[in-house]
Amino acid sequence: MIAIPTNLTVELLLEEAKKYCDAKTVDWIQLAYEFADSAHAGQKRKSGELYISHPLATAYILATMRIDPNIVVASLMHDIPEDTAVTLADIEKNFSKDIASMIAGITKLGTLKYRGVERYLENLRKMFVAMAEDVRVMIIKFADRIHNLTTLDSLPPNKRHRIAWESLEIYAPIANRLGMGEFKGMLEDLSFPYIYPKEFEKVKAIRADTLSNAAEALKKTSVRISEELKKAGVKVVSLHSREKQLYSLYQKLLKRDWETTKIYDIIALRIVVQDVGDCYAALGIIHQIWRPLKGRIKDYIAQPKPNGYQSLHTTIFGEDGKVMEFQIRTKEMHDEAEYGVAAHWHYDENGVRLPNKNIAWAQELAKLQKETLANLSDLEEMKIDFFHNHIFVFTPKGDVIDLPEDATPVDFAYHIHSDIGHHCSGAKINDQLVSLDTPLKSGDVVEVITSKDRKGPSPDWMKTVKTHAAKMHIKNKLNKTKLQWLKSILPKKK
Ligand code: MN
Repeated sequence: MIAIPTNLTVELLLEEAKKYCDAKTVDWIQLAYEFADSAHAGQKRKSGELYISHPLATAYILATMRIDPNIVVASLMHDIPEDTAVTLADIEKNFSKDIASMIAGITKLGTLKYRGVERYLENLRKMFVAMAEDVRVMIIKFADRIHNLTTLDSLPPNKRHRIAWESLEIYAPIANRLGMGEFKGMLEDLSFPYIYPKEFEKVKAIRADTLSNAAEALKKTSVRISEELKKAGVKVVSLHSREKQLYSLYQKLLKRDWETTKIYDIIALRIVVQDVGDCYAALGIIHQIWRPLKGRIKDYIAQPKPNGYQSLHTTIFGEDGKVMEFQIRTKEMHDEAEYGVAAHWHYDENGVRLPNKNIAWAQELAKLQKETLANLSDLEEMKIDFFHNHIFVFTPKGDVIDLPEDATPVDFAYHIHSDIGHHCSGAKINDQLVSLDTPLKSGDVVEVITSKDRKGPSPDWMKTVKTHAAKMHIKNKLNKTKLQWLKSILPKKK
């Protein structure tokens, strides 16, 4: 987790920036700081600190993650339009249209009208919109929220609870869906003690216990594996142990009835290597030294998780009989796991930006939100779509389609195109003819059979489809057909 220095100064921020920005860019960041400092002059936070300490910390979090300097610049000024007399137009004039537009996005997210469930939904809706329009806004918002979570103690208890809850229930799942593991972990672990204080302490103790028990074996295992990898000529970029995040451990403990012996990844050894070939080579070497546990070898390289996560995982009977998990990945996979969509705005050690990440689903979301997000119940459905467990299925040509768990061939058909959905008359899964309500499984090859004779969707499909898109298309088409039928039987106007 990123530690924010207690006496954070602009100099410390600029020091971080110098690690990946040229001198001109560092100056630009300093300029943004001075601009924000004078805009917020005289303002204080609830904690009594100068207000500028907050945007400064937000920018610091992003700079330590080597996020695009434009985003760092915008983050320094993110509260200006809302809290000061300086306007977006002033920012645009002094900086750029792009910077001002990111800040406008943050400001839009800031004001919520409702309370309770409606507030929750309004919050979600605004974030979906922001995300679809410009993911960079979410990156700033996450850093902003992380700093606010570190200073929660200065707020009254009800506000404290609301902010922590919102972070746990809305921000963290979105960060997870965007593949931003680093942000997700911080949002969860900072909120956790405010929502479940007792459980937090309990989980913390369990993790500390496991860590001290395994420390010796961990050391031995690291030494052994680095020797063996070296012998085999596999170049290691980095080898380190990672502790499971507390909230994520808590979720797992709940699922396993608090049986800690059944959780093997409280601590894991992470090996970062140069390429995919080396990942598999390292896995082979590990299995030659230590016996793997049955059913615990996971190839997320060949089959990535829905949020894009890639790595090889294996659990072995390690040194001193201690069960231990290994996670093997390349540098690109590592960055992707930590930063997710933000990896596109992350500068690696050579200052080179990673290639553009595919966020097709965010664009998909943008399309949907235009059509339907006005309606609260639609939004609730979409939320389920969005956070539901996902499966991957294939078209006969081998294209990957991402669908919610238990989606049917009809969902698949509508996902391809609404016309294919409307005219869908049968389906094959892995070359076998199946009924249209058969739940799909990850890895299935799905082929849709269409027929021109089919007039439109069957009302029965509504009972089994899982995706919001399919429901919407079916509903619209059925309503239209009903309307046409009504028109056809009503007397024509003269
Ligand atoms: Mn803020």
